[in-house]
Amino acid sequence: MGLLYLGTPLTWEEAKNHADHVRDHGITQFLHTWDRVKDRTGDELLWGDEVEYMVVIFDDEKKDAKLSLRQTEILEELGRAVGTLHNDASLSTSVPKFHPEYGRYMLESTPGSPYTGSIADLLSVEANMRYRRTLARNRLKENEIPLTLTSFPRLGTAGVFTEPHYDSKDAKSSHSLFLPEEITNPHARFPTLTANIRSRRKSKVAINLPIFEDERTPRPFVDPTIPWQRDIYPEDPEAKNGAALIDHIYMDAMGFGMGCCCLQLTFQCCNVNEARRMYDALIPIGPLMLALTAASPIWRGYLADVDCRWNVIAGSVDDRTPEERGLEPLKNNRYIIPKSRYDSVDLYISSEWANKPAYNDTVVPYDEAIRNRLLSYGIDDLLSKHIAHLFIRDPLVIFSETIHQDDSSSSDHFENIQSTNWQTLRFKPPPPGSSIGWRVEFRSMEVQMTDFENAAFAVFIVLLSRAILAFNLNFYVPISKVDENMQRAQKRDAARTQKFFFRKNVIPQGYATPAASSPSSGSSTPSECSDCGMAPQVKERKLRNCFPTLARPPTIDDGLVEDEYEEMSIKEIFCGKGSAFPGLLGLVDAYLGTLEATPDERKQIDKYLDLVRGRANGTLQTPAAWMRSFVRSHPAYKFDSTVSQEINYDLLIAVDRIERGTLRVPELLPEDYGQPHLNGFH
Ligand code: ADP
Ligand code: MG
Ligand code: MG
Ligand code: MG
Ligand code: MG
Ligand code: MG
Repeated sequence: MGLLYLGTPLTWEEAKNHADHVRDHGITQFLHTWDRVKDRTGDELLWGDEVEYMVVIFDDEKKDAKLSLRQTEILEELGRAVGTLHNDASLSTSVPKFHPEYGRYMLESTPGSPYTGSIADLLSVEANMRYRRTLARNRLKENEIPLTLTSFPRLGTAGVFTEPHYDSKDAKSSHSLFLPEEITNPHARFPTLTANIRSRRKSKVAINLPIFEDERTPRPFVDPTIPWQRDIYPEDPEAKNGAALIDHIYMDAMGFGMGCCCLQLTFQCCNVNEARRMYDALIPIGPLMLALTAASPIWRGYLADVDCRWNVIAGSVDDRTPEERGLEPLKNNRYIIPKSRYDSVDLYISSEWANKPAYNDTVVPYDEAIRNRLLSYGIDDLLSKHIAHLFIRDPLVIFSETIHQDDSSSSDHFENIQSTNWQTLRFKPPPPGSSIGWRVEFRSMEVQMTDFENAAFAVFIVLLSRAILAFNLNFYVPISKVDENMQRAQKRDAARTQKFFFRKNVIPQGYATPAASSPSSGSSTPSECSDCGMAPQVKERKLRNCFPTLARPPTIDDGLVEDEYEEMSIKEIFCGKGSAFPGLLGLVDAYLGTLEATPDERKQIDKYLDLVRGRANGTLQTPAAWMRSFVRSHPAYKFDSTVSQEINYDLLIAVDRIERGTLRVPELLPEDYGQPHLNGFH
């Protein structure tokens, strides 16, 4: 989350009067940033991860696992601990950071400073993640554990799922039938966001996940745990009036989505053009990684027929009015908006030749006046449209103290809109007053139960990002196909069963395929950026940064976009198909071949890539598949889709044991995971 201002938050009725002010000054702030950094170049690859945790409190006597709502105290404790570490000069740059998150049971951690692209740094990621987990673990009570779970299986069940317990009667921000007010971080930003989304939308959010139809699941499934007749808040009748669908798991509050955990990665790029290329190339990768990291099959105490969090979060912050959702004719609002503010990317933005206009094939409303303002400032069409599209949204949280800002030194109004557009990728301009360059954030992945897995996916995406730049890889498929892939990615067991639209030829024509050329043969060896100025010897044994794009090859075939892609299995996309397409892992492998990794380093990296390969070729389960089969083989499971208190407890005990390396699950992790010779287990 961004900076948390202390101040007086405005209700939606007040805030909406300032929406144009925030947008107007937000754009002014962006233009100041643009003036300052549009020509900035030569930034090296720096990157970092964000890992989110749920603090779970175990009651071994009652066999119960609940969410511990001690976020505030825990973060204070962690702050003190981290402060002590900071006093040790030898440690100070590596002291991790801990951040609050939406749920009052959540923590987020990031490395103390970003990584460089060196192999040594890549190989330190897992240990760093473990160190952070251990730091957090050591500040908790004995029976509290920070688990990296994407969704808490029994969040919002009838009964008790938090410690301490609160009743949803008091849910004054969300008016939820299921989640109490105290589920939300008490900082004014979060309850205000929750309440203002509901007010703007003119109803509670409504999320319906198809229930997993097991042998004894009642059909039709009408959820007996919904308090259908509650009559406290004006929205209470929504459930019975159609918001809650039969055969679905119904959820009605922001906390169900923003209370999920994920794994995010941020990359700094050499300059703005490289950031735009990187952003575009990672867009089609987003849904694939969602499918591979799927880790959330259980919601509000039921097995769902989906494996991922994405549609839940998208629905949980969907502040569009009925007019904007196309349910009523436009009268008070300006646009029909096809998607929630949390969803997959709507526009490719690279200005390179490879980005054909036909790829941006969906309806993308944008603010015409803002677009014209950006265009007349000299910003190109695609970037203007990207910003003008983000800016169709209203600012949801405004503090009365910070309405007036110095637009030349602040980016708060810009960030107000930018950081509440939660898409699969985020294109991040350099913040004012810092040395940070242009960045791209990759946001689709579900957090994994172990840091081995989290590190593996982080390392894979870093290497893929380098391969993209080094080989000028072209992953473009129409955005509508990426959207379709997002939906397929969430289906039960998608990694094994679904096909995904993917590009047939990812290597620009006229260039040697990386697979076909040996590391030293030259034609596809990463060239160094003429802009960068970094001496070649500095780049030795680094994951090189600053790759110029290739000029448009004379032989390029401008055929039909529809002929450029086909449906492939995840296995084909990652492991290769035929002789023309080496697969994403083949591309990463070719890239690794251009680096001077020692055999030992290579072995370590291969462990991570093997995990990705195992998931992709189906020899390893996703966490979601493993959890589903854990539940279905639990002796207390009644094959009715219900995940009881006892099953939940046993599941989370198993998750903790897996993480510690004391429970072996060869269907999920490599055979030697958790062996004593691997360092870092607690
Ligand atoms: P947010 O919550 O806004 O997405 P965070 O501050 O939680 O962002 O995390 C940002 C991540 O970016 C961290 O992993 C951090 O180490 C990393 N990072 C910091 N500076 C840079 C940089 N210059 N380039 C790339 N990544 C960076
Ligand atoms: Mg976060
Ligand atoms: Mg963060
Ligand atoms: Mg964040
Ligand atoms: Mg931030
Ligand atoms: Mg982030």
